[in-house]
Amino acid sequence: MTRFIFITGGVVSSLGKGLGSAALGALLQARGFKVRLCKMDPYLNIDPGTMSPFQHGEVYVTDDGAETDLDLGHYERFTGNPATKDDNITTGKIYQNVLSKERRGDYLGATVQVIPHITDEIKNFIRQKDGTADFVLCEIGGTVGDIESLPFLEAIRQFGNEVGLNRALYIHVTLLPYIAAAGELKTKPTQHSVKELMSVGIAPRILLCRADREIDPDDLRKIAQFCNIEPNKVIPALDVKTIYEVPLSYHKVGLDEQVLDAFGIKAPEPDLKAWEEIVRRIKNPEGEVTIALVGKYTNLADSYKSLNEALIHGGIANQNKVKIKFVESSKFDNNDEIVHELENVHGILVAGGFGERGAEGKIKAAKFARERKVPYFGICFGLQMAVLEAARNVAGIKKANSTEFDFKKDDVPLIGMMTEWTKGNAKEVRAANTDLGGTMRLGAYPAALKKGSKVAEIYGSAEIHERHRHRYEVNMNYREELEGSGFIFSGVSPDGRLPEICERVDHPWFIGVQYHPELKSKPFDPHPLFVSFIKAAIDQGRLV
Ligand code: GLN
Repeated sequence: MTRFIFITGGVVSSLGKGLGSAALGALLQARGFKVRLCKMDPYLNIDPGTMSPFQHGEVYVTDDGAETDLDLGHYERFTGNPATKDDNITTGKIYQNVLSKERRGDYLGATVQVIPHITDEIKNFIRQKDGTADFVLCEIGGTVGDIESLPFLEAIRQFGNEVGLNRALYIHVTLLPYIAAAGELKTKPTQHSVKELMSVGIAPRILLCRADREIDPDDLRKIAQFCNIEPNKVIPALDVKTIYEVPLSYHKVGLDEQVLDAFGIKAPEPDLKAWEEIVRRIKNPEGEVTIALVGKYTNLADSYKSLNEALIHGGIANQNKVKIKFVESSKFDNNDEIVHELENVHGILVAGGFGERGAEGKIKAAKFARERKVPYFGICFGLQMAVLEAARNVAGIKKANSTEFDFKKDDVPLIGMMTEWTKGNAKEVRAANTDLGGTMRLGAYPAALKKGSKVAEIYGSAEIHERHRHRYEVNMNYREELEGSGFIFSGVSPDGRLPEICERVDHPWFIGVQYHPELKSKPFDPHPLFVSFIKAAIDQGRLV
């Protein structure tokens, strides 16, 4: 029997609802249950694919090619279960489904309304997961009280009523702010938030109270009393040093135990050895390396969420602390000062990106890494910029450019758009003037690795599957010139048409990949490229 856990948030956003859900998933999994996590986002975009990373953080891509909310990254990193396109839905997508049914005449003349048609569509999304796991954890984005969340709250209320409360549980995550003038944590916003939730007919049975310091037991009792919740189901959720400590710390305060108790089920204690080992390694590093993360969304930590985490995973594997130095590439498009930013780092990672702003800065970072023999990891755009750099400065193709940029008549298209490529037997075609949303080369594609290459050694296999999200590719018509400039194409699509990996043969560690390996890295299963990159950075540290 599948049980459903709905996680809502109150008081403010950014409370770590996604992490909390992921951690609870990990704890239930550690007790031997099969879990599935999903996210419902109240915004109107069909998916986050067209949203700026400045506003919404990174876009997380699944194996099956969906552009999803970054919380799905947390879910995957904490449970190891690959997320799918059916694990994230938005208001926009719900309306799109309902409106296309309306156009098809599926509603047989009915007046189409928020209740029941929108709420039914939301319930369908949840119900689809029935039978796929012991526990389905469903996070509702946004904050209770938002106008946009209302149909989702109504839908989960109805759903709980339909399946019965022995199969549905509502967990509410709130904040206890610390007011310095009073010298205390305040419970009132939590009380109001629960009241708000109750006004739409949802009575949470567990409260996860986020706070930046110890919560007085009297305050917990007060919350229990005012909010009509069993005292031991008001759970203090304090800040921790590393996010990978969250499962351990939530277990200590009884979150998983109370969830099982709410459902009236017993289960063996969780096996948390893997999490203990991860936290032990993070807290006891044998050394430290600094990696420059060169990008243009560097003022929002969430823009490069998976990259940050994958670098940390590389550190865990090498028992080293990874310090990330954000370098805003657009500041260096028109000057060479980036050299000063890169001089004392042990490795340079140029991140994915879109558009011309910041591109020249990234090209300069690639040049620095090539010339100074600093480990270089180019991801997607970072590969493309490294290729442009070598074409211009080594192969002598001065006008080498990407057609993504302001492309002049006599420029040479080293990076261009493939208008078609093959996936399985089906041909996927993309033209330059189609909609932007969902039209990229998205999701997992295979690549064949060249025998004897560095990447073949790192992966320890001849074929890999990695996730993509891009429109442009390195132009294989210039293969000879690029090979003459010191690159080899060490990974290509199985049909040999698309470049997937370029590595320099005259450099200790210089690898560019067209895909996003960071999306598949996990703390307990770090991605081999990140493990190897951090190892190279550590070795580099010994040289300087
Ligand atoms: N803008 C580049 C492209 O579309 C790179 C995309 C990326 O880095 N994800 O191909």
